[in-house]
Amino acid sequence: MNVPFIDFTEQYQLIKDEVNSGLKTVFEKANFILGKEVVDFENQFARYCDAKYGVGVNSGTDALYLAMAALNLEPGDEVIVPSFTFIATALCVSYTGATVVFADIEDETYNIDPVKLSKIITKKTKAIIPVHIYGQPSNMKEIMILAKKNKITVVEDAAQAHGATYQGKRVGALGDISCFSFYPTKSLGAFGDAGMLVTNDEKIARTAEMLRDYGRSSRYDHKVKGYNSRMDTIQAVVLLEKLKHLDGWNKMRNDAAAYYCQLLKGVKAVTTPTIKSDRTHVFQTFAVRVKNRDKVVESLKKKGISVLVHYPIPLHLQEAYADLGYKRGDFPVSEKISNEILSLPMYPHIKKEQIEYVCDSLKELVK
Ligand SMILES: *Cc1c(COP(=O)(O)O)cnc(C)c1O
Repeated sequence: MNVPFIDFTEQYQLIKDEVNSGLKTVFEKANFILGKEVVDFENQFARYCDAKYGVGVNSGTDALYLAMAALNLEPGDEVIVPSFTFIATALCVSYTGATVVFADIEDETYNIDPVKLSKIITKKTKAIIPVHIYGQPSNMKEIMILAKKNKITVVEDAAQAHGATYQGKRVGALGDISCFSFYPTKSLGAFGDAGMLVTNDEKIARTAEMLRDYGRSSRYDHKVKGYNSRMDTIQAVVLLEKLKHLDGWNKMRNDAAAYYCQLLKGVKAVTTPTIKSDRTHVFQTFAVRVKNRDKVVESLKKKGISVLVHYPIPLHLQEAYADLGYKRGDFPVSEKISNEILSLPMYPHIKKEQIEYVCDSLKELVK
């Protein structure tokens, strides 16, 4: 049996007619950039997150970068980032000239550890970027307490957590700013690159709107040195349609995850995800832990099962961040998880038989 890592063909069939007619309208009106549909999507997605403002941009990375830029960071300022995440979480800090400070993660959720975080806050710390890794929110209560006490801004990296909740509240309005990616493989994915910055802070929203569009306040009036980071109208058309299905698709991901956990229950060599009782997980990624991970990856591939590793190298050990002087052993939890973590096939329409085949194969391999 072949099990792809992701397969969105059934999703496409569901939205095809609406998307095609929406795209036709954009082509006829030729309002390709920041068109009316972008504004509609900004409003709808912000409302979905229970936030006031949404600023559509061209990627999740740029949403994070514009959030950093809106904070007026200067060289010497510090921003704390988990060492176990996708590199964009750290790159957005580096682009501003501020210093990335890494923090280790929790063994249970793989999210930033508030206790370790509290120990590295200094007078120079200007922001914290908790990442809701794989789709489970970080411990936002502890993080917000620390941030308020030390007057630090919290920017959520919600690129993997569209629709997840923490203590009954949607990700997107838990911190000061939230950044989403709509990269095609995310739970809410465009037909190309797109992202959004979501906030309740009007000043931040207005600044981000200027920054994404050459720093302009009107056509040829430039208030700040901005960028070209705007959302395409065709992506907004796709995202508006997909947003209607997001909760349903998240539910299907949860059902698939529950089936995986049921089939892998009692298998000592495989650690399934822990979901904290005060949150919901949206399973953008379904990741388990195994020993001899690299061997398991090779064997599963031979059986026709596509798996990936998110992420094999923690950021403090990346060559790109060698200048910061971190070394192996600095963040033991991140390093252990990077060695053991394994992402199994996950998408809303994955079939029960496919999950059964993956679990049977995995059980056989770790026996
Ligand atoms: C995907 C992702 C990003 C970057 O988003 P892009 O849209 O690809 O630029 C940032 N952070 C995390 C955690 C991600 O998963």
